[in-house]
Amino acid sequence: LFSGLEPRPSDPLLGLMTAFRADPRDAKLDLGVGVYKDEHGKTPVMRAIKAAETRLLADQDSKRYLGGDGDIRFVELLEPIVFGDALGDPARRIGIQTPGGTGALRLGAELIARARPNATVWTGDPTWPNHTPILRAAGLTVASHPFYDPRARTIRFDEMMLALGKAAPGDVVLLHGCCHNPTGADLSIEQWDAVIERIAERDLVAFIDLAYQGLGDGLDADAAGLRKAWSALPEVLLAYSCDKNFGVYRERTGAMWGRFADADTAAIARGNILALARTLWSMPPDHGAAAVRIVLDDPELAADWRTELSAMCERLGGLRQALASADPRLAYLAEQRGMFALLPVDKTGVHAMRDAHGIYMTDGGRINVAGLGIDDVAPFVDALRP
Ligand code: PMP
Repeated sequence: LFSGLEPRPSDPLLGLMTAFRADPRDAKLDLGVGVYKDEHGKTPVMRAIKAAETRLLADQDSKRYLGGDGDIRFVELLEPIVFGDALGDPARRIGIQTPGGTGALRLGAELIARARPNATVWTGDPTWPNHTPILRAAGLTVASHPFYDPRARTIRFDEMMLALGKAAPGDVVLLHGCCHNPTGADLSIEQWDAVIERIAERDLVAFIDLAYQGLGDGLDADAAGLRKAWSALPEVLLAYSCDKNFGVYRERTGAMWGRFADADTAAIARGNILALARTLWSMPPDHGAAAVRIVLDDPELAADWRTELSAMCERLGGLRQALASADPRLAYLAEQRGMFALLPVDKTGVHAMRDAHGIYMTDGGRINVAGLGIDDVAPFVDALRP
């Protein structure tokens, strides 16, 4: 049977991690892996999460199944943070816990495929490399619209709008909520307005991926586009990840929300969502969501989480400013947001930086800004000079 399998290329990011580990140089820098790192290159467990885990360990008295929805209180406590005042009619909304943002994306993709098997999902060029495989795995057709011009370092907004103007009614538009991966280029609020208007007039559906809330301009600002779409459009799906903003990556913590045209559609969608989740993972894992729930249910822990998240966000902003002021070619980095950026280096340049300086990034020149300490900025910029 298995001799019929086609070989698959290995994930380039995993290869990069292996090469980094094998590099004996002390001064090496890993800018490849997509996790937040502090000034010392560590990805610590956030203080509030650690406290919540201690409580969880002491107080948890059962590990019986959670149910298909997962931790309902976790979902409820996230809602004001994610949606603010835009939450709207509960009868038209469904929220369920998922294994990470990836699980939420897959669940949303499966729901779309159930509702309209021949729907096309439009993704930006470029987008997170896992988007297309997830959507295709659900059987959907994926089309790409222009998003970012790597030479001009700007969003190709007019071309994006033109492409969306050609999408067929019922097609889906996948949008990054904030901190675009891999470019760091986010839509302005005026651009969100225009995209939402285009989605409404073409009868499209917005599918928003919000994986970095709080790591761009702050919790509310980072959700501003999503909240506009959620209020303005009859149907929206949201894939949400807590893995970065609560630092619980390996705990696979996320949620999916759907907003539907009316209560009857929402009820039917809910049955479908639960049936799909049952075949995908049956029930989501508990630990990460339970820790997030304990944090958000306790005003002191919640405040401490916000403080620590703000500090992470400020560190990213500070690094972007430092890179921008160190080299005029990097000035655009100060205008962009989040952990990721595309650098003006080609594959040869990327390999040369790896060989000569032990600086590791993906072949496309994407860096995780958080991989730098503030003292790394000057040598990094020197290494970048041809
Ligand atoms: N969407 C984007 C844009 C991401 O960058 C990531 C994580 N790299 C995810 C979704 C998935 O997040 P998770 O680890 O929670 O599955």
